[in-house]
Amino acid sequence: MPSRRPHATIDLAALEHNFTRVKQLAPNSKILAVLKANAYGHGMLPVAQALKQADALGVARLDEALALRAGGIARPIVLLEGFFHQDELAQVVASNLQLVIHHREQAEALLAAQLDAPVRVWLKVDSGMHRLGIYPHEFNELYQRLSQSRNVQGPLRLMSHFASSDELDKPATANQLALFQQITQGSAGELSLANSGAVLNWPQSHGDWVRPGLMLYGVSPMADAVGSAHDLKPVMTLSSSVIAVREVNAGDAVGYGGSWIAAHDSRLAVVAMGYGDGYPRAAGNNAAVLINGKRLPIVGRVSMDMITVDIGNEAVAVGDNVILWGSDLPVEQLARCVDTIAYELLCNITSRVQFSYINPSH
Ligand SMILES: *Cc1c(COP(=O)(O)O)cnc(C)c1O
Repeated sequence: MPSRRPHATIDLAALEHNFTRVKQLAPNSKILAVLKANAYGHGMLPVAQALKQADALGVARLDEALALRAGGIARPIVLLEGFFHQDELAQVVASNLQLVIHHREQAEALLAAQLDAPVRVWLKVDSGMHRLGIYPHEFNELYQRLSQSRNVQGPLRLMSHFASSDELDKPATANQLALFQQITQGSAGELSLANSGAVLNWPQSHGDWVRPGLMLYGVSPMADAVGSAHDLKPVMTLSSSVIAVREVNAGDAVGYGGSWIAAHDSRLAVVAMGYGDGYPRAAGNNAAVLINGKRLPIVGRVSMDMITVDIGNEAVAVGDNVILWGSDLPVEQLARCVDTIAYELLCNITSRVQFSYINPSH
């Protein structure tokens, strides 16, 4: 059972279920599981250990990749933003990491380097997101030079990233796909485009490698859906417990700023969870929690360590378990309530929250 502290329970069976869903949706593609930002707040190393069938793992930064290697993960690891400084290249080689090359300066630095061994390169093209990626007009030249470099191993892999794969009514994704196909046509190399939104919505984009992140954690990337709509299971349950139950009189103001005033005599539960744990402050007077399975509203502001919940006539006692998000209270709903995305809520969980990992497979 979770302790009384704020607690994140990570269901590894749900994680494996979601991985299997990716396989079903993209049966002809290899899977690069995206584990950046501490596996979207779930704990990078245990997630990497559980995703035994992933063909490769993707992270954003060198220190994330080195942490995986230090934790004994031997599988292919891709640095999704490549190296930031030439000094990192020796470690990239020593730790057998794969590089995304996304701009000319990076390509030139790699071409000019004296490496002990060649590295695997994913050449990233900007097909319309206009964040990272070489310009389409640079493709042929850089493809040729990188392919011929003694620093590059085997055929290049070719990738791009979608800006709007979660939005079905926009032409952006189809346009990006068409441009990418046009740019890479006739050049050998495995292709990769699809993030979670594209795995779910754009089968024609799956290519040789899909790159799911959010959906592995059981969460929908769509603005108006929850993971269960795609047969995904939420991996994280964020919970805590009631640390006080109190009565207030009609007219009493509750919490910082007195932003909630009891309209009638009320009973409140104080819960050990606040923005210091990563719970969003915007949930004050706005969102709900589950106590003993009942959905109850947060009243007053979210403090650093606590929230207050209007428990009406429910039988609630000190020590009762409180769910902030999980299967019966999707994080996607809280995200909409506080005007953000589930990605941000998951990443914001702080180190003060205690983690436990359940249902490992053997
Ligand atoms: C983060 C990321 C992904 C995964 O995106 P999701 O929307 O979480 O599936 C895929 N590819 C790249 C390059 C990324 O940076």
